[in-house]
Amino acid sequence: MQQLPAHSVYQVQESKETADAVAYAFLQNTGEPVQYPYKYPNIADDDVRIRILFTGLCHSDCLHSRGLWDPYIKYPSCPGHEVVGVVEKVGTGVTKFKVGEKVGCNPQRWMCQTCEQCKKGDNQLCSQNIGLYDDNNFGGYSTHIQVAERMVFRIPDGFNDALGSPLLCAGVTVYAPLKRFYKPNFTCAVIGIGGLGHLAVQYAAKLGMTVTAFTTSKNREQEIKRLGASNLSSSIDVESLKAEQGKYDIVINTLYIEDEDVFKSHQRLTAPTGTYIQVGAPPSKVNFKLDHAYIILNQIRVAGSLIGNYDETQEMLEFSAQNNVYPIVETFEFEDFPKAFDRMEKAQAKFRCVVNVGKWAQANGLWK
Ligand SMILES: [Zn+2]
Ligand SMILES: [Zn+2]
Repeated sequence: MQQLPAHSVYQVQESKETADAVAYAFLQNTGEPVQYPYKYPNIADDDVRIRILFTGLCHSDCLHSRGLWDPYIKYPSCPGHEVVGVVEKVGTGVTKFKVGEKVGCNPQRWMCQTCEQCKKGDNQLCSQNIGLYDDNNFGGYSTHIQVAERMVFRIPDGFNDALGSPLLCAGVTVYAPLKRFYKPNFTCAVIGIGGLGHLAVQYAAKLGMTVTAFTTSKNREQEIKRLGASNLSSSIDVESLKAEQGKYDIVINTLYIEDEDVFKSHQRLTAPTGTYIQVGAPPSKVNFKLDHAYIILNQIRVAGSLIGNYDETQEMLEFSAQNNVYPIVETFEFEDFPKAFDRMEKAQAKFRCVVNVGKWAQANGLWK
């Protein structure tokens, strides 16, 4: 086994036998994640330690681990922000959760509860928001995670743990803005049927809207219709986009297409006084080009959205359990973490990757 570097908070162990947890950590900005056994410092009063059952992989994990967001990232680094697990241990001040309860974590590790955004309920925009993983904290690519009680979610009865972990990022990213702006009789355009879009189709349909899926995957028509879309249309053909202009009360765009004609055609799908929601993020240094004439003359509301706030996330979990909304996933064993990451990084997965962590952790004596 290679010599593992020290971490600023966790104590690296020589083997899993003496460890509290085993992560898959990146040791530098290239290569695969490796197993990293570690011990936690004492549990803080308001912390909850979670045995991870299933963890989802999200593309932003690559951007972080490869140093594409922050070139000064410190290694070892363990990403992961789509966690479903069971409470293993609680700090002395924890009141909301008990050992043995099913819980989840989303991309946010902390909210201050005192800044202006937190007071308005928009805690995802908290001025002290830190991600589920950063230089000092490991994320969900691990057998365990320790998070402040205020950022832990209750997993509702009947929730499908094996499929559901990606909802904590991908699910709420589309559920929250649809829920904010929808009415049940609305028409809804979902642009891009990938990891986000295939969930947006399901939520929009279950909320009662009539959904058209804009995609290049016409060959997947049956599958996309089974998710709840009534119609399919091209996401890149300007002529056919033109034919759909102004028809949709809500447009949710999970793509960012650099071709200006196509991107503006996406905006023009929005009906007069309708809402255009952009959740697909462009690469840094690329700016959105809005069709100002169309937006002004038709009184279009343009909305951005970042994951969802605490209440929206909890509500999304309940809505998903009740309405059977789950992503289509590829599932991997814990030891195949590097393989799962590789598929996700190369965008080969259909549609989200999930790792069964609990099975390995239990079999290897990490549920102590
Ligand atoms: Zn994510
Ligand atoms: Zn705050």
